[in-house]
Amino acid sequence: MLKIAVVGSGPSGFYTAEALLKSSKAEVDMLERLPVPYGLVRYGVAPDHPKLKLPATTYARTAALSGFRFVGGVTVGKDVSVEELKDAYHAVVFCCGAETDRELGIPGENLPGSHAATAFVGWYNGHPDFLQHSFDLTQEQVAIIGQGNVAADVCRILAKPVDDLRQTDIAEHALQALAESRVREIHIIGRRGPAQAKFTDKELRELGEIPQAGVSLDPADLVLDPASAKEIEDPRGQTAAWNMALLREFASRPLAQARRRIHFRFLESPVALYGGQNLGGAVLEKNRLEGPPFGQCALGTGVTARLDCGLLFRSVGYKGLEMPGLPFDERRGIIPNREGRVIGDGLPLTGMYCAGWIKRGPSGIIGTNRADAVETANHLLADMHTNASLPSKAGASALLPMLASRGLRCTSFEDWLKIDAAEIARGAEAGKPREKFVRIKDMLDIVSRQAAA
Ligand code: NAP
Repeated sequence: MLKIAVVGSGPSGFYTAEALLKSSKAEVDMLERLPVPYGLVRYGVAPDHPKLKLPATTYARTAALSGFRFVGGVTVGKDVSVEELKDAYHAVVFCCGAETDRELGIPGENLPGSHAATAFVGWYNGHPDFLQHSFDLTQEQVAIIGQGNVAADVCRILAKPVDDLRQTDIAEHALQALAESRVREIHIIGRRGPAQAKFTDKELRELGEIPQAGVSLDPADLVLDPASAKEIEDPRGQTAAWNMALLREFASRPLAQARRRIHFRFLESPVALYGGQNLGGAVLEKNRLEGPPFGQCALGTGVTARLDCGLLFRSVGYKGLEMPGLPFDERRGIIPNREGRVIGDGLPLTGMYCAGWIKRGPSGIIGTNRADAVETANHLLADMHTNASLPSKAGASALLPMLASRGLRCTSFEDWLKIDAAEIARGAEAGKPREKFVRIKDMLDIVSRQAAA
């Protein structure tokens, strides 16, 4: 039996584990930094999109398969090295996602009041890493830079009446802060035109359906240049065509006396953020598009204007983090690989694989990771099959004592099920599907308490 370590317990980790276990040729130990599993499904999906969290049910079924083991509370690269995993397992699959945010690289980017959207998402989803963050929701004017689905999530959470969020699994601290929110105008800013916005049409439509919120945009922005007009006529531009139809409909709406207003702005890039102790606003440069259909870039025109706002979210994409002991493509924020085989000095590194966002970059929906993970798992199994003289490996019987000797308190999947049940019970009291524990200590206390009972 092959002994495989999968690093990361988000969608790509679970789809990789599923493919390997269903081959009946492998046992999988899944290592996760937090005591709890599911990565982006638990901490990335917006609380008001519960259907997108349903894959967790499938992951729990994978965890019940024979040969699966969850080892929570271990940071690979810190608590255990890549080299040590390589010694203990036949292969290691890195499914560690894209853990940080891309930067704008402009002056003032880190002024207080300017935040990575990923921090806001982690905060409202109760991720322990973002508990200490605070967002000044007394500001009336808010800017969101970027027009992808993360920007749409952030915009919806800011714009929705708080009562619409009470029955979700949003973290209690976020609910309390949002209840006091004075946010009024939300500017969602794209560096390219409306035909290049990266929202999916479902997410864009939702922004037009928020109770007590209005949408606005300048109809002049909907006049397309010839290359953009070609894009939306092309089958590859189907989503863009649907988005254009939605935006045209939004532009035709009278801007009601809404409690909150969402302003879609196009062809603008922040070139600097200004302020003193706190963010005062952004200098936006007007852009024009240049290039062929589906290859148009935003070029600055030199014309700038100021947008006063005390709160700004940079939502310009995620980026993977370098793992000590592995090659890394700094520009793309991924582990260099060929179809999931990790590449170092131009050649595949024996026993090293990757899947998901750390393999291909942060794109696609949760389900996209299934085919991606299956590709990696199939290559791994084929490589192991052709290697007739595989040595035996100790797997967890080497790893677990090593982690214990380093003072680590690891969680099992059974421990997670206890935490899960406790969260669901806490949520029921508040009429929510769950109330997450937001401190690692509280998660571990539940496990200890139940073990003692
Ligand atoms: P994204 O879809 O890649 O969008 C990033 C946005 O940032 C784009 O509008 C991009 O514009 C802009 N941008 C990039 N660099 C910029 C810069 N230097 N200055 C100004 N704007 C810049 O990324 P994302 O929103 O983080 O989403 C990541 C993935 O998760 C996507 O596949 C998304 O669909 C998925 N997701 C899905 C859901 C859902 O299904 N409900 C929810 C959240 C996320 P350009 O196009 O010009 O580069």
